[in-house]
Amino acid sequence: MALPPVLMYHRVASAPVGTIVPGHYVSPRTLERHLRLLNARKLIALSPAESRDVHRSGVLLTFDDGYADFASAAAPRLREAGFSAIVFVCTGLLGDHNAWDVALGDVREPLMDAKTISDLAKEGFWFGVHTSRHADLTAVPETRFEDEIFGPRRRLSELIGAEVDDFCYPYGRHSSPVRKAVADAGYRRGFATGRGILGDPYAIGRINVRRDTTALVLAYKLLRHRMRGSR
Ligand SMILES: [Zn+2]
Repeated sequence: MALPPVLMYHRVASAPVGTIVPGHYVSPRTLERHLRLLNARKLIALSPAESRDVHRSGVLLTFDDGYADFASAAAPRLREAGFSAIVFVCTGLLGDHNAWDVALGDVREPLMDAKTISDLAKEGFWFGVHTSRHADLTAVPETRFEDEIFGPRRRLSELIGAEVDDFCYPYGRHSSPVRKAVADAGYRRGFATGRGILGDPYAIGRINVRRDTTALVLAYKLLRHRMRGSR
């Protein structure tokens, strides 16, 4: 049996000139094609909890960083196709911009503000924490965990009026102390990148969806997931 696939998206827009992460931009049209493929395969949208159930047939869509284009470009297409998704936000940067990439020379991209997140949560989209300011948790002292892991859970819970069970590691970087802190803070799951750690709910692997991931490539990635996950 295989756990349902978890897809990782970032931005839904055309890549602007000058970006240092062009691969992160999936065009709105490509997202539409992905959703058509998932619907044709009868892969329904699972909640984060359901995605840990080997008896479920479906897919979990995740969007990292909380870009404003989630609300303007992704959400309308997800609604139209009958999908939901979870968005991982940096609680210290709501309504701000991608400061962590701009520091490396990237173009400035707006992030969703608190009101938008609260409205989308009321509508049924899920939200999880992506630290306060997109910290690489394996590169900061453990004294920062309160600000980057524990505090953001309380902040986001207040904002959406519900418990927050899901955490996502910036850059996919985690370690044993990081995973322990995420569990101690009360999160139930930790999302990583790549294949993660098999069987560990605090190192969930995800399929990377990029600019060049056409519907055909996505179909191949889903097939590969199913073959690898068989056990
Ligand atoms: Zn990120």
